[in-house]
Amino acid sequence: PPQADQPVIRQLDDAAINRIAAGEVVERPASAVKELVENAIDAGGRRIEIAYADGGKTLIRITDDGCGITEAQLPLALSRHATSKIDGSDLLDIHTFGFRGEALPSLGAVGRLSITSRVGRAAAASIAVEGGQMGPVKPAALSGGTIVELRDLFYATPARLKFMRSDRAEAQAITDVVKRLAMAEPFIGFTLRDVTGGGEGRVTFRAEAESGDLFDALHGRLARILGKEFAENALKIDAEREGLRLIGYAALPTYSRGSSVAQYLFVNGRPVKDKLLVGALRGAYFDYLSRDRHPAAALFIDCDPHLVDVNVHPAKSEVRFRDPGLARGLIVSSLRHALAEAGHRASTTVAN
Ligand code: ADP
Ligand code: MG
Repeated sequence: PPQADQPVIRQLDDAAINRIAAGEVVERPASAVKELVENAIDAGGRRIEIAYADGGKTLIRITDDGCGITEAQLPLALSRHATSKIDGSDLLDIHTFGFRGEALPSLGAVGRLSITSRVGRAAAASIAVEGGQMGPVKPAALSGGTIVELRDLFYATPARLKFMRSDRAEAQAITDVVKRLAMAEPFIGFTLRDVTGGGEGRVTFRAEAESGDLFDALHGRLARILGKEFAENALKIDAEREGLRLIGYAALPTYSRGSSVAQYLFVNGRPVKDKLLVGALRGAYFDYLSRDRHPAAALFIDCDPHLVDVNVHPAKSEVRFRDPGLARGLIVSSLRHALAEAGHRASTTVAN
């Protein structure tokens, strides 16, 4: 017979499961902003507005003009493992930021979440979830697209609440996330607004949608985010090898920094912090910079999703290339080539 103190195995309910998942997906307000802006980009939004109050602790609101969610599908959007982005048949064939169907249910488990959306000429509708409990779908007013509002993040998990930093620090982290995503999407317009205390608030970052070809647009967007000086000192990178395309801008060695703060790397549009890629960047500048100087660059690798695994961790920005040497080689050789050409140009100018 079982002992009195024999452990009992129980199935957790959905609310508990979502709270646990939220612990992985949502570390702080900036991670909620990342998930919600990525959803807006996945939805085809061309103008995305992000508003936050009190460092995002009391309010995060993302407004987009994307495809919207139909009234009938609103409850599904909040359900665990429900996604419109993959059908599960090929987990290596991912063309969107999202695919796990975890962000919205997780956010709904640790904050007060509401979604208002409208598809085409159908009527707008909204749904709210609080403490993991989904409310009814209600009629709403909206001209198009989607508004996702997240209030009182972590109110349901006081332990997490304690780990949040000052409003200022959290606002800074939100700004960093938005700028990083905006770098990779120069054709989308972004507005970031601090609405602490209510009202219209104050615009803290704005990048109008860029036009022209991809390089014009990217150059314009990088000038907006990294500054004119970076843009003026940046060498255009455009290379391809065995299905891996590398584009972007890398600054002249004379524009190097004292730390690696100005290094922005993206794989298939995702901001990544990857040792392999950072090492390749360093390697490319090896002959040009002393040990304490760091190159500045914004580089984008694009490839068939089968050549890279982004399925490593929901929140971490790691990727795994099928052929890491290829990615490294592409960065090192194309940057060295651009640097050598720029050096050659500079020396012939002096000689003349
Ligand atoms: P995932 O992004 O991994 O699919 P989410 O929980 O973030 O999971 O979102 C669930 C679903 O809700 C998405 O697959 C999408 O269909 C829908 N959705 C979320 N945000 C938006 C949005 N801003 N516009 C349109 N649809 C959205
Ligand atoms: Mg998502």
